[in-house]
Amino acid sequence: MWRVIGQDRIVSLLDYSLAGNGIAHAYLLVGPRHIGKGTLALDLACALNCEGPGVPCGQCRSCRRILEGKHADVTVTGLDSRTEIGIEDIRGLQRMASLPPYEGKCKAFIIDGAEYLSTEAANALLKILEEPPQRVAWLLLAADEDRLLPTVLSRCQRLELRPVPPQRVQEVLVSSYGVDPDRAKLLSHLCHGCLGWALAALSDDDMLEQRSQDVTRLSSLLAADLSERFAYAQELATQFSANRRAAAETMQVWLDWWRDLMLVRGGYSEAVVNNEHLEALEEQAGCLDLLDIRRFLSRLCSLQQEVSRNINPRLAMESLMLDLPASTRTRARRGNIAAHL
Ligand SMILES: [Zn+2]
Repeated sequence: MWRVIGQDRIVSLLDYSLAGNGIAHAYLLVGPRHIGKGTLALDLACALNCEGPGVPCGQCRSCRRILEGKHADVTVTGLDSRTEIGIEDIRGLQRMASLPPYEGKCKAFIIDGAEYLSTEAANALLKILEEPPQRVAWLLLAADEDRLLPTVLSRCQRLELRPVPPQRVQEVLVSSYGVDPDRAKLLSHLCHGCLGWALAALSDDDMLEQRSQDVTRLSSLLAADLSERFAYAQELATQFSANRRAAAETMQVWLDWWRDLMLVRGGYSEAVVNNEHLEALEEQAGCLDLLDIRRFLSRLCSLQQEVSRNINPRLAMESLMLDLPASTRTRARRGNIAAHL
């Protein structure tokens, strides 16, 4: 049974291919972090080596060994704590790929974070993909495929994983993980269709706590003066330089908050992500112009796209703080002060 959730179209395609209609020698699994790329890649590695009926069965010796990370023919290479996957990694995989499968039917090499292959490593991989060895499957996982060499992309069959609808996430959390329905509902909205995020948040209370702190902090910035905003910009910039993933999560919190403000301002409060902060959202939305909200939201969307590029974090954050709209109350207060000067 495929363990990946909510990717029925991809699963049907792979079932069709596995039924004898041709498995590609390389797949590119694309989708945001926590969407299920790793689960799907392991499912496919199981399917290619499964000894049971109805592949991947998940129960046979081969499937179990793969899922336990013990199968000699399935290798997962990732970034770990590095900033790129280097040429030596790919050379190592190439050596392994040149040997026949040791205990299974097909070798599978999973490269998690393929967009972080160094240029040398990507070129070495390209050479392998141009003359693929027999009984070897390359499974490249990427959240940002634009960073991959187009020539590598063109050698892979692309499978795009789509966000899972909140209702489905909620059902899975309740039925398969025994999560309380209210908590499941909250997580299903916060996870943006990425079940893996919801599962990670379930096992790590710090994730929700961090999110809650981010929300409190950003919601207080509207009333803050410029020096406070710049101090916050400096903090965010430092976070960007030290940990891009954490910074990307913070950006997502910002986007959720400002989307929610737009929804509340437009009279669609029932659709907000931050349902537990509805009162604060309503209060802030009442003090902002809809046009200002839209403008700032679009600014955040552009910044989110720039985050993965080589932007100067400090400049970007300071400019963001300058664009942060002032609430009508703050404007009125500033107007009063100016009138008395
Ligand atoms: Zn099996």
